[in-house]
Amino acid sequence: MEHSFVTHLEAAIDGTRLPARQLQTTHDGRPLWVRYDLDAVGRAVARADLAAREPDLWRYRELLPVDRDEDVVSFGEGMSPLLAAPRLGAHLGLSHLFVKDESQLPTGSFKSRGMAMAVSMAKQFGVRRVAIPTAGNAGGAVAAYAARAGMEAYVFMPVDTPAVNRYEAALCGARVFLVDGLINDCGALVKAGSEPMGWLDMSTLKEPYRLEGKKTMGLELAEQSHWELPDVVLYPTGGGTGLIGMWKAFEELTALGWLDSPHRPRLYSCQSSGCAPIADAFDRGERFASAPEQPHTLASGLRVPVAVGDFMILDAVRASGGRAVAAAEEGIREWMELACRLEGISLCPEAAVCIGALVDAVEAGHIARDERIVVFNTGAAQKYVEVLETELPRIDSLLVDGRVDWERLAAGEPAVAS
Ligand SMILES: *Cc1c(COP(=O)(O)O)cnc(C)c1O
Repeated sequence: MEHSFVTHLEAAIDGTRLPARQLQTTHDGRPLWVRYDLDAVGRAVARADLAAREPDLWRYRELLPVDRDEDVVSFGEGMSPLLAAPRLGAHLGLSHLFVKDESQLPTGSFKSRGMAMAVSMAKQFGVRRVAIPTAGNAGGAVAAYAARAGMEAYVFMPVDTPAVNRYEAALCGARVFLVDGLINDCGALVKAGSEPMGWLDMSTLKEPYRLEGKKTMGLELAEQSHWELPDVVLYPTGGGTGLIGMWKAFEELTALGWLDSPHRPRLYSCQSSGCAPIADAFDRGERFASAPEQPHTLASGLRVPVAVGDFMILDAVRASGGRAVAAAEEGIREWMELACRLEGISLCPEAAVCIGALVDAVEAGHIARDERIVVFNTGAAQKYVEVLETELPRIDSLLVDGRVDWERLAAGEPAVAS
């Protein structure tokens, strides 16, 4: 493509228009929307054209911001499978449960969607150095995409970030810093370094393009559901870009006339009871969230006490008729293990929170058992070694001399002969 269909950027807080073909970050510290000439997109591509394209997120090229194809930085990300989960569904008493499995994406999480777009746009604008505060997976993703683009990456993460996230970022050549604080403290360091270091701040919603990458989850969900969106979507919410992006996708698809039914899913923004600022604001009927006192959760991607896009998350949830909910932190391991055991899906702790929220919502009568329900599995369980290695189920040790008691083994008991 020679030119994208982007017309301008728009401040989410007050609608101020900003030119798109120069580097923009935020407006008054709040996020920007990327706006397109959707009439022109509709003339350039029909939804039926998509079927012949590559199975990655670039199949929605006309709805993406990159001007020149040569600036695209990609690992072939996107088009993650929408898996039926009949065994888990039956266990929970649900007849149409699906998992959109983002654990299969490059770097093992859906963060690759956002970084594919943000790094491609950074390349388009000639950026040589990027920096990010991260709860984990975004650091690994930015390091990988920056390496592929030949850029420098600086990654700031809290000291208790999962080990795999530290190593994957460092392995891809990023400078990694462990910060004695929370992700917001890391964010303050990135901001402070912007001038002296001359880097682009890739924080969630502090540049407009990660959101466009995450939007593709909504586009794929529509295409994979044959242009009839499901009834309910459960999404684990940290900074909220995924949820906000999906809602934006549904709006653009509606404007394009690509949806066969006007019906949009009720969005469930799911958080852990250990860190639930969005769910709290929802309960209080407010549009802006306040930071919890001592945020703690095994679901490291949800350890986000302050989200700059809080009002965008809450607006989308309310407009959809959905809810923002907190599931019990104590249930994370159990839900994770249940889903992995029944379906073999590599469910991350963040998505386990969604399963807990789903069970609660069904019990409360907010979600009906026969609705079409989609849970987003935003990352791979393998990235959370610290969560897996405690209370690991059913791992036995055997001696090499063959003294295995097969009878006891068959009965599910410890198998070393005594
Ligand atoms: C970052 C992350 C989240 C939270 O995503 P947002 O779009 O920032 O709300 C959820 N799950 C995983 C695995 C993550 O890495």
